[in-house]
Amino acid sequence: MTIDLTGKVALVTGGGRGIGRSCVELLARAGADVVVNYRSSEAGAAATVAEIGSAGRRARAIRADVSVADEVEALFGEVQAVWGSLDILVNNAGIIADSLVAAMEPADWDRVLEVNLRGAFLCTRAAMPIMLPRHAGKIVNVASVSALRGGRGQANYAAAKGGLVAFTRACAVELAPKGIQVNAVLPGMITTEMSTRARKRGGERLLETIPSGRFGSPEDVAQAVLFLVSPLADYITGQALAVDGGMTSA
Ligand code: NAP
Repeated sequence: MTIDLTGKVALVTGGGRGIGRSCVELLARAGADVVVNYRSSEAGAAATVAEIGSAGRRARAIRADVSVADEVEALFGEVQAVWGSLDILVNNAGIIADSLVAAMEPADWDRVLEVNLRGAFLCTRAAMPIMLPRHAGKIVNVASVSALRGGRGQANYAAAKGGLVAFTRACAVELAPKGIQVNAVLPGMITTEMSTRARKRGGERLLETIPSGRFGSPEDVAQAVLFLVSPLADYITGQALAVDGGMTSA
């Protein structure tokens, strides 16, 4: 059975690079038209849109900081005006600002929660006027294994991603009767810019904590997202799926 998303419109936040970009590529390959949100990666978003366009899908890059309510409203307003619908939302945008809790600046605490948690809330809220009248929609929140296990120097990030998983469950319960499924993926150690320092610092010792014996690729995460937004997952909601090579089971 193949996943066919022809005729669906998807929006991926932070879709210009990393895991978000892989999500955009896989969704488009499955037939969806895709809105690529970005904040600073204008060139990456433009390249992604060009790549999708040449494969015959409709795509558009739209800049917005997901933590700013007005910018999110404008983003979804443009989606509504241009596409008239939204079937899939992937809340992928995220940042880290690591430091030990004793030295953590309140500004770094706030910023990490604003982007990773408030951003998902603002985007989910803004998607409602489009999804609710259609009584359909799929939302996937990109959380982290940090929601399950503490990482040194990541109190802000763990709180944000733990909050995002709780937010996912609450939204799932509220929105299931409205035909909208909400799930989360929890990536482990994935080979993107975000984890470069941790992978360099952790080296072989870090690899030994992953039963599969390798770091994950952005595609590994995107494939899980693709499954969760597909009709194959119509009866799955409120779940948090670790994509971590067995890391959190070890
Ligand atoms: P990345 O390469 O650093 O990409 C982060 C993405 O988030 C970029 O596309 C960036 O867009 C976007 N972003 C950041 N702040 C934003 C904002 N205020 N508004 C809109 N977009 C914003 O990291 P990644 O690994 O692909 O991360 C994607 C998601 O996976 C994040 O939620 C991250 O927490 C999660 N995750 C990653 C790992 C990992 O090992 N890599 C593990 C667990 C979870 P611009 O470049 O346009 O600013």
